[in-house]
Amino acid sequence: MLGTTANSFADEVNVYSGRQEALIKPLLDEFTERTNIKVNLVTGKGDALISRLSSEGELSPADLILMADAGRLVRANKMGLTQSIESAVILQRVPQALRASNNHWIALTKRARPIMYVKGKVDPVSISSVQDLGDESLKGQICIRSSSNIYNQSMLASMIMLNGENETREWAKGVVKNFARTPKGGDRDQIKAIVAGECNFAVANTYYLGGMLASQDDETREIAEQVGVIWPDQEGQGTHVNVSGAAITKYAQNKDEAQMLLSFMLEEASQRWYAEVNHEYPIIEGVKWSDELTSLGKFKAQSIDLERMGELNAQALKLMDQAGWR
Ligand code: FE
Repeated sequence: MLGTTANSFADEVNVYSGRQEALIKPLLDEFTERTNIKVNLVTGKGDALISRLSSEGELSPADLILMADAGRLVRANKMGLTQSIESAVILQRVPQALRASNNHWIALTKRARPIMYVKGKVDPVSISSVQDLGDESLKGQICIRSSSNIYNQSMLASMIMLNGENETREWAKGVVKNFARTPKGGDRDQIKAIVAGECNFAVANTYYLGGMLASQDDETREIAEQVGVIWPDQEGQGTHVNVSGAAITKYAQNKDEAQMLLSFMLEEASQRWYAEVNHEYPIIEGVKWSDELTSLGKFKAQSIDLERMGELNAQALKLMDQAGWR
């Protein structure tokens, strides 16, 4: 462009990130150092960034979006805001189950949503399946966040796929009856609530506990160290797993650069760093987990179609509403 000679970067890529800057910036800086491609980062809430992308239309500066739930990536794809990723390197690295069937999005990390309890206080043997959370013997014992939360929507969407709508609705009704309190706060708050004695069991994503275990704050670490993880459904369907991932926008001006950035994020060293800092599971097999995640143990994960799960998010929300899950 005329008059922009002051820019020392030949190329750039514009990223809308639903992930916090601290969790991604060092990786982006390393990419810039290696390629001389400048990364312009806009961070915000995932849903707000999708709305922004949608209203900006063809004029959107965004080339790449980073989102922390398959449901949001699926939605962006359905809304026509994305385009197919064509780089052979990327498509070879990302297993088919971890990307859209039309290659409009890819996963970058995985996260699990197990059940947590306080070690020595509760007998974890009383729960072996997520189904047990709906059992009347657990009345008043469960802390879980609200139905407006996309992680819960995705979890119930996966249950609809595996068990059908009616069974999932009945289960949700049972869980609502077992609430220790009206849902409030985020996953970290549910973890804190079991340690505070407000409830016996919490449902939360692994990286929240991982992050608390690695916290610089002594109090946070002391809370997290009391928490044990129950990996539900190890004999059957496996524990619910979701992904964080990325998509290239439909009107990306810098598609090549966006694909270069994604390839970079899929390299072993990047996967290791990204997963380590976020306490998520890398999507590339063989990449080492963070010490905190390793301490939570290995588990059998659900094997489900993430795309279908994302499509069922709205239905899952409706079902939670019918069950009185606010
Ligand atoms: Fe989160």
